[in-house]
Amino acid sequence: MADLQLDNVTKVFVENDGNEITAVEDVSLEIDDGEFLVLVGPSGCGKSTTLRMVAGLETVSDGEIRLGGTVVNETKPKDRDIAMVFQSYALYPHMTVRENMSFGLEESTEMPDDEIAETVESAAEMLGIDDLLDRKPDELSGGQQQRVALGRAIVRDPEVFLLDEPLSNLDAKLRAQMRTELQRLQEELDVATIYVTHDQTEAMTMADKIAILNDGQLQQVGTPLECYHEPANLFVAGFIGEPSMNFFDVTRDGDRLVHDEFEYDLSAETAAELDDNDDLVLGIRPEDVEVQSDHEGAHSYETVVDVVEPMGDENNVYLAFDAEREETFVATIDGFQHVERGQSIVARLPEDAIHVFDRESGRALR
Ligand code: ATP
Repeated sequence: MADLQLDNVTKVFVENDGNEITAVEDVSLEIDDGEFLVLVGPSGCGKSTTLRMVAGLETVSDGEIRLGGTVVNETKPKDRDIAMVFQSYALYPHMTVRENMSFGLEESTEMPDDEIAETVESAAEMLGIDDLLDRKPDELSGGQQQRVALGRAIVRDPEVFLLDEPLSNLDAKLRAQMRTELQRLQEELDVATIYVTHDQTEAMTMADKIAILNDGQLQQVGTPLECYHEPANLFVAGFIGEPSMNFFDVTRDGDRLVHDEFEYDLSAETAAELDDNDDLVLGIRPEDVEVQSDHEGAHSYETVVDVVEPMGDENNVYLAFDAEREETFVATIDGFQHVERGQSIVARLPEDAIHVFDRESGRALR
């Protein structure tokens, strides 16, 4: 049985003027014991609201939240076996690290003092902050404060861990380091975890399973690779991957996709996968665009290089079909492959790599 279950959960906020805002709409999710689920999506899509409903900090307008099979909609936050870590850390400034970490246990459990001390020390050791236990939060770096906030959650040995953008206040290097540490920690603790972020790289690197939200609605749930290779719709395809997938508006003409600048012949197999819709979007990931000096194979097109963005081992090359370079698309190529601005080049869009979406609904057809 899933450790944590959201069944058709909806949250409607009613503003003072009576205006209703649907922040989360009909979301269903299951998180198994020990599973690391990353809830990802743009700002305002409903991530924090979802997490706050699970924690009991926000009421549920419709649907059910189950913990270990039991509906907890009406259960007080302190009686849900859940620990939450906030973006702001929310440490008590007048308390030492030790006090910050033991406070929750003293308040909410019958645990004897010596056991609390032992639990706090072992969590501190796990997090590498055992030499900081007597300091106050303002004597700690951002990364250390983050560890204390995690420590405070860990000592409670919860059934579910909720993390709301816990790394967003850290610099890029520390963030990368803490990502790996958090993953190791979560594996060690083997606890169901929901991790909220708007950063798709964080989602891709950390998750067992990603849930992608947009406008309060769940777009897709799957492993990072499933969401990357088989995006359910245009939103997911554009949100996951950096640089983003290239999209071209095309019209279907039999077994051919017609764009303003090029025509793309489909094999009978591919054509059969598409519905009868005429208005489509052709998508291809930058790393799937092949850059050649000459026409080799089908689906290769004359382009001109607009911008070259060196990334070290790779270059992002922005290409245009027309000399005015009004509409560009991007190819990620080997850093040693030399290309320069203004150069004419052949770009191949291999058929086995293309995605096709219905333009109106955004649904992936292939
Ligand atoms: P961010 O990444 O910016 O934190 P988010 O995905 O976590 O965003 P939420 O904070 O869950 O998004 O907000 C979802 C929507 O609900 C937004 O439109 C927000 O304005 C609205 N909202 C959130 N809390 C309230 C509230 N208390 N009253 C009214 N509207 C709210």
